[in-house]
Amino acid sequence: MKFAADRTVGKLAQWLRLMGYDAVDTGPFSPESVLSFIGEDRILLTRDTHLTRKTATLKAIYLHSNDPKNQVREVVHTLLLQPDEKVFFTRCKFCNTILERVTSQEVIDEVPDYVRQRHKRFSRCNTCERVYWPGTHYDNITKTLQDLLAK
Ligand SMILES: [Zn+2]
Repeated sequence: MKFAADRTVGKLAQWLRLMGYDAVDTGPFSPESVLSFIGEDRILLTRDTHLTRKTATLKAIYLHSNDPKNQVREVVHTLLLQPDEKVFFTRCKFCNTILERVTSQEVIDEVPDYVRQRHKRFSRCNTCERVYWPGTHYDNITKTLQDLLAK
């Protein structure tokens, strides 16, 4: 299941990517651009009722909440998604690219020494070249997602 979030719900796409879902930002709004995303089999996520009225049910989802975390819950409940923790952190939070597993040797020039000494698992985004590793940040996000999905 793939998503496109328009700019009325900007942060939502980041949360969906953290959960491993393919979610792009539609960028600056124009009706044509949004319709093209639906044409790519993406579900449009928006707080714009004009858009949801124009499109078929479940091609676009109107989010009631202003809060990205509650919006995640709305998407999960509306589509009966079953997020899988095994795929959390497999996609770049910033550009939606699927991350590649790399060794600490491969990130020797990109990650500070103290981080490489503490961690063994790294992932790299080959599009924006960010390097990720599991740290307290991952734990906090996982906890947040577990909490909001449990309710
Ligand atoms: Zn990236």
